[in-house]
Amino acid sequence: MTSQFDAKNDATKCKQTSPSSQSSSTRGPQPSVSNEDASRRNFLQMAVGGAAAVLATAAGMEFAAPSAALAQSLLTPEQALKELQDGNKRFVAGNLTSFDQDLAILRNHTSEKQQPFAAVLACSDSRVPVELIFDQTIGHIFVTRVAGNFTTSEIIASLEYGAAVLGTKVILVMGHGSCGAVEATIQHKDVPGQISALYPHIQPAVDKVGTDTDTVSKANALIQAALLRQSSTALSSLVDTGKLKVLAAFYNIASGVVSLLE
Ligand SMILES: [Zn+2]
Repeated sequence: MTSQFDAKNDATKCKQTSPSSQSSSTRGPQPSVSNEDASRRNFLQMAVGGAAAVLATAAGMEFAAPSAALAQSLLTPEQALKELQDGNKRFVAGNLTSFDQDLAILRNHTSEKQQPFAAVLACSDSRVPVELIFDQTIGHIFVTRVAGNFTTSEIIASLEYGAAVLGTKVILVMGHGSCGAVEATIQHKDVPGQISALYPHIQPAVDKVGTDTDTVSKANALIQAALLRQSSTALSSLVDTGKLKVLAAFYNIASGVVSLLE
């Protein structure tokens, strides 16, 4: 999928003497940067960020719906949530816009800085490609994934970094249909290696709502979202001051629809 962009990068990398020089070299000339076409104008509108967005708005320019996503400082938690929901609607309708953007330029402009507007705690399941189902691209979503989408101290630390340092405005804890980790927990499956280490994290949802897989997945997402809000003072203070929303959601892998659970 990215071969065309890799080709551009390869041309740049040929001039490098070591991998450590990549950071500075990404500022160097690239064929696509000098291409003053519609795709670049589109990129500039959506990727430069808040300051440019303010200037452009003052100049009377209109942004397309996904363009404001990187203007993180301008988004409220409600607007960040709506951005995700609108992206999911585009995904369900088959009207993806994120692939229209020039990934090479986008990588270049985000090589030293990221401003994701949202974070998602999702399952590792291959049927849950987070950026795709929200129609988002490089630099938009801060993603943590673990089979069963539950919180651990490391997951909490990551999401704290996303919110407190990078400034994400919404965190979605997203369960999904037919989750293998949930099914295995319900059935107490005998599994190889350390897979059963997942079970204790999901068991509280089984204890609460019974043995229907999707019902447990939804309960688990609600429990984990509540845990996030309660166990992290860094997150709870942002929630209390209206700077962050932490919500549970459920992804229907058949329909592609993400539904809020609270
Ligand atoms: Zn899963």
